[in-house]
Amino acid sequence: MEKYKAIGIKLTPQRIAILDYLDGNKEHPSAEDIYKEVSKRFPTMSFATVYNTLQTLKERGGVLELTIDPDKKRFDPNTEPHHHLICLSCKKIIDIHGKYNLDIPDEERADFDIVGNHIEFYGLCTDCKKRDSVQGQRTMKGGDRIGSI
Ligand code: ZN
Ligand code: MN
Repeated sequence: MEKYKAIGIKLTPQRIAILDYLDGNKEHPSAEDIYKEVSKRFPTMSFATVYNTLQTLKERGGVLELTIDPDKKRFDPNTEPHHHLICLSCKKIIDIHGKYNLDIPDEERADFDIVGNHIEFYGLCTDCKKRDSVQGQRTMKGGDRIGSI
């Protein structure tokens, strides 16, 4: 919460509820997720309040907007440099904090001064792999006839 005070946004009770929900949240929620959760405490809150608060936070560096989920923008209160794994099946996003040494050859750098990077790894999470293998086994059982051809 100190971080958000330093940003200097006006702290209304609704905004505090949004910030409380975001603080330390590692789920990378969408604006809809945040609205759904926070409106439990503030039933009169509008989606526009959530959206506008997120925009203000983003502009002031209080939250990162992630575009790695093609279905919806996701928000990350962790503004320290880090990278992400995303599950292609359930869209779960997980933080990874390794320091990857990526050298761009001078001829590709186009004279840019590089100030940061963000790496996205795509794949299947543990839960989805388990679910897929259970479904796979069921299909195998159902496919017994294949063996009798
Ligand atoms: Zn998954
Ligand atoms: Mn993150």
